[in-house]
Amino acid sequence: MNDKLKELVKLQQIDIQVMQIENKLEEIPEEIKGMDERVEQLEVDFQNASKEMNNLLVMKKEKDNDVLSIEEEIKKHQKELNSLKSNEAYSALLKEIENCNKKKEEIENEQLGIMEKEEQFIINKDKRHKELDEKKAVFNGKKKELEDEIQRLNNLLAETQSKRSDAARGVEDTVLVQYDRIRVKKRGIGIVPLEEEACGGCHMIMTPQEVSDVIRGQDTIVCSSCMRIVYFDEKKEEQQNKDLQNT
Ligand SMILES: [Zn+2]
Repeated sequence: MNDKLKELVKLQQIDIQVMQIENKLEEIPEEIKGMDERVEQLEVDFQNASKEMNNLLVMKKEKDNDVLSIEEEIKKHQKELNSLKSNEAYSALLKEIENCNKKKEEIENEQLGIMEKEEQFIINKDKRHKELDEKKAVFNGKKKELEDEIQRLNNLLAETQSKRSDAARGVEDTVLVQYDRIRVKKRGIGIVPLEEEACGGCHMIMTPQEVSDVIRGQDTIVCSSCMRIVYFDEKKEEQQNKDLQNT
């Protein structure tokens, strides 16, 4: 492989590193956002449970008034009993009083239900509060780690970009322009190794002439299918031959 291509392969390796760092830098804020949303949801759930409990307590209080007015009604009916002349009217009113008592009992049972819920809520409240605080602490710790990671990656990116500039200086201008143009179009990969008789990028079989030109390594050969520059990786070839001999 000629030196021009060697420099370009080095540049491609650095560009891949830059891409990987940039990808991570895009992913991490998304991860942090997801965590923030989960904590927010837990807090909303907690607040909703409290709100729901408060509504029940308001309802229980309202039921106190209902009980009072039913009791008033019962008292009134009991007074009326003495003034009634006919048996029919008397038993009708007794029935009415009985209905009032039933209704009162129902309401009092509902109130008991709410009180049981309240008791349970108070017991769970502390537990849930503690759980929420623990989860928040874990999230915050993880968030801090991720923020540190962003800092580290930004430093690494600056470092790698500066390496990139140095490496780019070693590549001939026309080749660099060609490489960069393909790289941008082809998801970051502008130069690929020959893989047997195929392009290492799109895996299309190359013509025997193209293959021998790539192996000779005198000119810059591009794959006619994906337009990437194709090079012959001597070290990889040697390794493969060695592997073959060893088997
Ligand atoms: Zn190709």
